[in-house]
Amino acid sequence: MGRIVAIGECMGELSETDAPGMLSMGFAGDTLNTAWYLKRSLGADWQIDYLTAVGTDTLSQRMIDFLAGEGIGTGHVRRIPDKTIGLYHISLKDGERSFTYWRNDSAARKLAGDPAAIATALHDADVAYWSGITLAILPPAGRLALLEALSQFAGRGGLVVFDPNLRPRLWDNLDSMRGWIHRAAAVSSLCLPSFDDEATHFGDATPGDTAARYRDQGTARVVVKNGPGDVTLVDGSGSLMTVAVPAAAVTVDTTAAGDSFNAGYLAAELAGASMAEATSTGSALARAVIGARGALVRLEAVT
Ligand code: ADP
Repeated sequence: MGRIVAIGECMGELSETDAPGMLSMGFAGDTLNTAWYLKRSLGADWQIDYLTAVGTDTLSQRMIDFLAGEGIGTGHVRRIPDKTIGLYHISLKDGERSFTYWRNDSAARKLAGDPAAIATALHDADVAYWSGITLAILPPAGRLALLEALSQFAGRGGLVVFDPNLRPRLWDNLDSMRGWIHRAAAVSSLCLPSFDDEATHFGDATPGDTAARYRDQGTARVVVKNGPGDVTLVDGSGSLMTVAVPAAAVTVDTTAAGDSFNAGYLAAELAGASMAEATSTGSALARAVIGARGALVRLEAVT
């Protein structure tokens, strides 16, 4: 049995219902979305643990119950008294979604506050999965603690998988974001960026430039997503190839396209697929996910 530790923030998601004034609540967040799809893609041979921090209140307990109910391990969730989970609200106007967040003081910002607990969580794990959002929400000391723990994990042969998920609003300034993201890439051996974000915030002209930049930081392998465009792969020897993305039959909601791609990709690799084959699996999952509403889409079968 293998074990994956996904590290980050899961939030309460408030969305409008058809009844005026009534909101429904779910749970989502980039690394949690990937953990959820990994669990569904990999089945019983893999334990998927989520490393985060929550409060000791009822809402936090509801999140824990949700994770456990979905088969995600909660044994490494920190409990922080006097804090609670972050929330966000989605509203839809003329087909455009807009988000309001309450996450500045969430418990998850303290997820790296106990370095010994991180080491314990990573002990005996095979894969660690994290993102630029995980890094962004932490105070500098937490970032350093997590980088150190992941660096040691990689040194022991663990696979560290990183999605830069660039979110400038979560960072003090762009230079800080760029610097920390590159430090994260340096301890990660597989990086899964999305080209539009990278072009905007790093000025990359092509997906190949994005891949080359992350390799220069020390990431051995890079998979550059590009919406409906080709996925660009650079393998451990530096060879570049592209894999075409079949057109989506319907695009209902692109939420979690990248997160689900990452899960489908990683699950396929862990089952022995090549980078190109894993890309096709990731694309197929993402295509199905964007065909339905919401971050967590309960698909019958993952192809
Ligand atoms: P993110 O959600 O991180 O911005 P992307 O938009 O690059 O990620 O999409 C991730 C993956 O989802 C793509 O590599 C592709 O496989 C799939 N995908 C996204 N948008 C489309 C689309 N319009 N048609 C087909 N596949 C898509």
